Amino acid sequence: MPHADWVELNGRRVPLAAVRDEPDHYLKLLSAARTHKAAACLCLTPALPLVTRCSQTTGRHHLAVWPGQGPRHAPECAFHRLDRTMSGQGSYESAAIRDTADGTIAVRFAAPLISKPGQDRPQSVDQQACPGLGRRSVGLLGLLHYLWEEAKLSAWRRGARGRRWAEVSAALTEQLAGITISRRPAESVLHVVPPYRPESAEANLAAIDEFIASLRADANQIRRGFVLGEIAGIHKSKFGFRFQLAHQNPSPHLGIYLSPRLDNRLRRRYRHPFAAAADVVGGRRVGLFYIERSTGGFATAVDAAVMLTNRAYIPAERPNPHRELRARV
Ligand SMILES: [Zn+2]
Repeated sequence: MPHADWVELNGRRVPLAAVRDEPDHYLKLLSAARTHKAAACLCLTPALPLVTRCSQTTGRHHLAVWPGQGPRHAPECAFHRLDRTMSGQGSYESAAIRDTADGTIAVRFAAPLISKPGQDRPQSVDQQACPGLGRRSVGLLGLLHYLWEEAKLSAWRRGARGRRWAEVSAALTEQLAGITISRRPAESVLHVVPPYRPESAEANLAAIDEFIASLRADANQIRRGFVLGEIAGIHKSKFGFRFQLAHQNPSPHLGIYLSPRLDNRLRRRYRHPFAAAADVVGGRRVGLFYIERSTGGFATAVDAAVMLTNRAYIPAERPNPHRELRARV
């Protein structure tokens, strides 16, 4: 009998939510499944094969949909994907988000991830600074909505009521493994804050340090990347504001620094999340930050997108990665 939400790892049946929640607990099974190519989704009979990947940055294992097989999974399955060629969004996707022949999805971000020092640097990711935005490329809110939608985090599913960051973070990380952003592996340019656990706290700290260090500018290049996490608090800092992220140590060394100008712009642009989160009990704010590394080694935001969700990380508004595109076409 088929079971959506269950997977088989090297011959053993386990609930997907449990694997996503505690990947370290299933380490042996996951690594055996990876070695023997023996992971499958049980949403249908016969079972559909899954890919077991191991992140080079965190060393954590995760399951991913087999390239091109997303539309074959049961609609309620976490690995189900819309058939992009049937979704009627082909003309936008051909430029901004498209399937490639090797099964990965190529996302073209509107602003550069690498600039040369004398070049004009984007002060924000908007139509003025990034003329291709909306036609040939995707911006921050579009990217955040796209990842949420692809990771199946937008809609209510069985078990979603009690969904925690561990599952959200795992689902997003799975997505990143099959995506490139502006031709770079998404995993290498986008850091999803991992869930806090005492036993992995040190490794998580090392991972974010390593990520920020990878954005170090030199005489030839300025590098930028993304941090995705839940905003836990906003604190005044010496030159502006520091956005404290949930599941991260609250030390000033971590978090994202914003200029007063950007903080102000975000509050005007994302009025709903900023106003409502304060009032709605249990509301959460998820931020996607487009960052540079400051000379002092801090993550400094060039721009950001903020989304309001309920307690189980289901967006207050249904994300539409194409809204940002359509609005401007
Ligand atoms: Zn499935």
